[in-house]
Amino acid sequence: MLDLTPKELKERTALRVNPCKTCQPVGAMYAALGVARCMPHSHGSQGCCSYHRMVLSRHFKEPAIASSSSFTEGASVFGGRSNINTSVKNVFDMYNPDVIAVHTTCLSETIGDDLNSFISDIELPPGKLVVHCNTPSYVGSHINGFFNMMMGFMNYLTGKTGTSNGKTAIFPGWVNPGDIRELKRIAKFMEVPAVFFPDQSGVLDAPMNGRYELYPKGGTKIEEIRGLGDSKGLIALGEIINIEPAELLQKKWKVPYTLLPMPVGVAYTDQYVMALRSQSKVEIPEELEAERGRLVDLMLDSAQYTHGKKVAIFGDPDVVIGLTSLALEMGMIPKYVITGTPKEEFTRKIEALFEHYGVSGCTAKANADLFELHQRIKNEKVDLLLGSTYGKQIAKAEDIPFIRAGFPVIDRYGGPLQSIVGYNGGAYLVEKITNALMDRFDRDSSDEDFEIVL
Ligand code: SF4
Repeated sequence: MLDLTPKELKERTALRVNPCKTCQPVGAMYAALGVARCMPHSHGSQGCCSYHRMVLSRHFKEPAIASSSSFTEGASVFGGRSNINTSVKNVFDMYNPDVIAVHTTCLSETIGDDLNSFISDIELPPGKLVVHCNTPSYVGSHINGFFNMMMGFMNYLTGKTGTSNGKTAIFPGWVNPGDIRELKRIAKFMEVPAVFFPDQSGVLDAPMNGRYELYPKGGTKIEEIRGLGDSKGLIALGEIINIEPAELLQKKWKVPYTLLPMPVGVAYTDQYVMALRSQSKVEIPEELEAERGRLVDLMLDSAQYTHGKKVAIFGDPDVVIGLTSLALEMGMIPKYVITGTPKEEFTRKIEALFEHYGVSGCTAKANADLFELHQRIKNEKVDLLLGSTYGKQIAKAEDIPFIRAGFPVIDRYGGPLQSIVGYNGGAYLVEKITNALMDRFDRDSSDEDFEIVL
């Protein structure tokens, strides 16, 4: 039994209990599923591939297709060259994707398989492609896997003709398909012709039409990835997940980038809208201004229930930075803000937010786990918990209202269709947060209190 009695916290460096992250290939697989007619391929044992697919399927409630090099003892000892050769042939023969996106696993990384040389030696059917990236899971998290796969695609496919294609590349980062739809809608409002990469909308939220389609209609097209080098500019959303892909596009293909936080809440959505405006030079449409005004109005109306309330926020770094900014805009106190991804930049950004909003006594930490978060909450309780499904045991044990957001949310439905970005996404979150606090207020109120409220 884990000891969770209140006490002084000790730093742990060699052990994670209830991690707040998953492994790199999950991110690589999710990024690859955002490319049209792509088969993600796990170069390792079947167990890894099954686990990665399961994590994605449980969140999206959709099949997450992927194939595996199916390592057995022989490949583990002698290397996986023949496995990848056979896999590529079989996958093209049986499933006919346009591209296979290979990522490694702990096993193939540990034995040192050289995917660059393996893939360059494979004779591919005409018009077919194989790309790859390295995703050793003992480094980083699924966030690293996501951007490593983005860079794998770009390194293999992206080129430059020297003539601008007049489009703006937008890297949405790790968000749900519903978020990508909202980001696209705002870009359309701002009259910005854009290529979203990767783009899981239409793939992991494909509509039910009575037929199973192995490759649903969505996803960034191969030609669009090839053309990223001819983009007139790049807007990269998510300062942790997209810094490396943005720098790659700038360094290799001289595409200037604007790196922004994930547009959650008023201030960060403003930044996205202004970045779009600098691309299209059009005035901000009235409808968008009205959406912003409605969000601000909702925040003001609900402030009496949210102001000064303490919240613990955990999950993936960019989502957590966005949620923290929104909580601060609502007058809440983000008492504990953690991510499992080991990026110290996260801590600096959260601490900058604390300073900007003048809150003190709050903790920001990267490379943390949920055991530590639980210990902190035991020592000083919060009014609300905001994060992935994995916080539900803490919420239950400490009897704290809990809002699910981020990845993964495996015990509720509809999340991937919903957006938390943009002004409308902000309004959705404010509604969820305020009403959770009000539900708790109602539960704990006496009959006399009810008379005052009603
Ligand atoms: S062995 Fe490595 S790649 Fe496979 S599931 Fe475990 S952490 Fe992920």
